[in-house]
Amino acid sequence: MAGLNSKERMAIPFVHMPLNPGEKRIHNFDEVPIGYTAEQAMQEARRCIQCKKPGCIGGCPVGINIPAFLELIEEGKFAEAAKKIRETNFLPAACGRVCPQDKQCQAVCVVGKKGDAVGIGNLERFAADWERTHGTFTAPVIPAPTGKRVAVIGSGPAGLTAAYELRMRGHEVVVFEAFHRGGGVMVYGIPRFRLPLEIIDEDIKMLENMGVQFVYDMIIGNVLSLDDLLVNEKFDALFIGTGAGLPKMLGIPGENSNGVYSANEYLTRIYLMQASHFPRYTTPIEQGKRVGVIGAGNTAMDTLRTAKRLGSEVTCYYRRTRDEAPARTEEVEHAEQEFLNWKWLHNPVEIIADANNNVKAIKCEKMKLSDPDSSGRRKPVGTGEFVTDEIDTIVFSLGCDVNPIIPATDKEIRINKWGIVMVDKDTNMTTKEKVFAGGDVVTGGSTVILAMGQAKTAALNMHKYLMGEIKWDISKISTDPNASGIVWEGKNK
Ligand SMILES: Cc1cc2nc3c(=O)[nH]c(=O)nc-3n(C[C@H](O)[C@H](O)[C@H](O)COP(=O)(O)OP(=O)(O)OC[C@H]3O[C@@H](n4cnc5c(N)ncnc54)[C@H](O)[C@@H]3O)c2cc1C
Repeated sequence: MAGLNSKERMAIPFVHMPLNPGEKRIHNFDEVPIGYTAEQAMQEARRCIQCKKPGCIGGCPVGINIPAFLELIEEGKFAEAAKKIRETNFLPAACGRVCPQDKQCQAVCVVGKKGDAVGIGNLERFAADWERTHGTFTAPVIPAPTGKRVAVIGSGPAGLTAAYELRMRGHEVVVFEAFHRGGGVMVYGIPRFRLPLEIIDEDIKMLENMGVQFVYDMIIGNVLSLDDLLVNEKFDALFIGTGAGLPKMLGIPGENSNGVYSANEYLTRIYLMQASHFPRYTTPIEQGKRVGVIGAGNTAMDTLRTAKRLGSEVTCYYRRTRDEAPARTEEVEHAEQEFLNWKWLHNPVEIIADANNNVKAIKCEKMKLSDPDSSGRRKPVGTGEFVTDEIDTIVFSLGCDVNPIIPATDKEIRINKWGIVMVDKDTNMTTKEKVFAGGDVVTGGSTVILAMGQAKTAALNMHKYLMGEIKWDISKISTDPNASGIVWEGKNK
């Protein structure tokens, strides 16, 4: 097949990812996509036309050499394909599952201009799973110690990537994590039916085998300050990767009733604290027969589908229509296959509680969309008509702000008015000497792969700083509280 020309390759039909059927999967937390067989993967990889100037590499925030790994899959060299991905991405099994490829590498795939883009994410997942299940992974070789000690705060994708990159350069690395296990949102937010726990656990085990030390149940800012780490614990540099875990609410009456959760709390209780197995595990979850989820982003889809798996009748409330839902199309489609109720153009205005302050209903104003404004955007406007639905549990799923503890306890760390940690956009240096930052804490709630890309930039510059190759320079960090955090420009650096 190697001799196929571009036209012949583009004529090969897209290989759809096989899925567990909706009626079965709502009764368990098994992964929804089943994964490609070897034959399906080779067939899909054949659709890549090996562009001379591949846009997909620039479209990946960590710059994976996509055409090279696709060619290896086409040739049946699966272990080599995984190795190729690992040159720039040390979490391929996770990224193959949760990256928004439709907005990144696949969005710029030339094949996609006349049909379906090459299934890059599905193939990344295939190669990574092949490596896991066939034991072909080879542990990286760590260079001689540099004598420098670095602390990484937070063990989400940003923290894990920073730890990996710094360890790969010979530094001693200690990761401090507030929770009792590592992985950040990949473990306590993204549901198991999209990202199985064992994948993250294996990646953390790999870091431990590389000599990275993990300290759990340690909230930096509360128990130890940044200065404690720098002065008393004698770390030479710090990386802040504490994410965006501060939930947003609507500020409507009744939000403090019993049975109202933020998505963060709800998902953390279920996935990190195993609340669905209460009383076998000590954390409970109060989930009634009818659950209402407010919002229509990716987190809302995860919350809706999780609540459904716990046996409730589940309804999504969103003030715009399905077309404006911020969730990835695939996430909405998967959710739609799972027998949920959708109340588009419904704006919650009040949570109604009974005499014991337990939620009993949600009141919404029906909305309509305005005519498009100059930017083409249609705003939701109230119609003056209200509806009230009986409900037992409500989960707010409206996004999150940056975790505030560290900036609140160390005034040398500059933040903007939204609480985002300000950094030099080229080096990820913060305004406090020796302290770098990356991930959601510098972008606001974003994605796994962007967090990894940020962390990689930070780690490479930390290394240069530690080795005396660059000096501390924060002259380019904005002092304007309205300045934005780091924004992905659709191309890696
Ligand atoms: C429900 C949900 C679903 C999502 N789905 C997707 C998806 O499908 N695809 C995708 O790409 N992205 C998704 N995201 C977004 C993605 O998970 C985040 O962008 C990413 O995890 C950010 O990584 P991070 O390392 O910056 O932060 P986090 O993953 O938030 O990790 C931060 C870590 O720091 C720890 N921490 C915080 N404060 C302290 C402290 N003071 N001391 C010590 N430790 C601390 C936290 O406990 C946490 O473990 C989702 C997010 C949510 C909430």
